[in-house]
Amino acid sequence: MKAAAFYEYGPAEAICYADIPDPEFGAGDVLVQVQACGVNHSDLDSRAGTSRWPFQLPMVLGAEFTGTVVAVGSQAGAIRTGDLVTALQQYSCGRCAQCARWRPDLCADFEVFGTTRWGGYGELVCVPAEVVVPLQPGDDPLAVAAGQCVVSTAWHMVNRLALVRPGDLVLVPSGSGGVAGALVQCAKLAGATVLATVGTAAKADQVAALGADLVVVREHQDIHGDVTAQLLDASGGRHFDAVLDTVGGELFGAHLSVLREEGTLVTCGAHAGEVVPLDLIPLFRNGWRIVGFRVAPPGDLATSLELIRRGAITVPIAATFPVSDAAAAHRFLEQRQHVGKVLLVAG
Ligand SMILES: [Zn+2]
Repeated sequence: MKAAAFYEYGPAEAICYADIPDPEFGAGDVLVQVQACGVNHSDLDSRAGTSRWPFQLPMVLGAEFTGTVVAVGSQAGAIRTGDLVTALQQYSCGRCAQCARWRPDLCADFEVFGTTRWGGYGELVCVPAEVVVPLQPGDDPLAVAAGQCVVSTAWHMVNRLALVRPGDLVLVPSGSGGVAGALVQCAKLAGATVLATVGTAAKADQVAALGADLVVVREHQDIHGDVTAQLLDASGGRHFDAVLDTVGGELFGAHLSVLREEGTLVTCGAHAGEVVPLDLIPLFRNGWRIVGFRVAPPGDLATSLELIRRGAITVPIAATFPVSDAAAAHRFLEQRQHVGKVLLVAG
């Protein structure tokens, strides 16, 4: 098959669109011809070699993809060729002690498409039948590929980790990102008032269009006290019940500091900086909770697909690139000028 693979870590140009062997295909697997595949920020780190995951190279990235089943193993159950499907982005081994005690979300031997095995940056991807997620014939493969990761992540953060309730006041820093935009919409569905921040005025209207009640353009990029004051000024002095953070970075402490007593900050990403300033004194005096997002379980993915299907949550598609030009998609994402999701499409 042809795939956008990388053979060594490096800049976007390290990705080569070339002939590579077809994925190995067993009796319990199905082969999916990819129609669309999401490009994630973590893909840039994976390709650059800074992700802290060990990779076996060459690697075909792509955690979330949609496509059509073109071959079915003899023990692959009810799936048929021609079915439109997606797959769980990550799945447990089914054999370890955690899996045996019905905590597959704590499995240490997680498989992740595009990390521990080849993902959707190619013409074909091999998927174990048990992690195939069937779609409905009328589903939009681009909308599902764009929404699968970001909506399930956001849904889980809002409803399972931050426990957002009607009337809550929620902060979404850097609301123009893919997950952040879904967080704005999920928090609105949960009944919250949502304040989002953006780095440039050009992005403010697009984030407001996702439903944010208030969009604050950060005036002070470096001075924590001023960011805190700006956020509390915008909220009318009310502290936030939850902060839904996808970026980390040097403003992490400022975002934490606007929580109410016993408020919760949930974090799922760190592309603004992985090591952050953290003052422990106000953390324990206020009883703040910092919660890490780990994985959205299959039930939350099913909920998310239904929300996408019904149009209750839309993930704006910033750009699509042919998979043969995956390097250009990475360069586009690196510029950070976009709002919404970047997709690779077949061709
Ligand atoms: Zn396991």
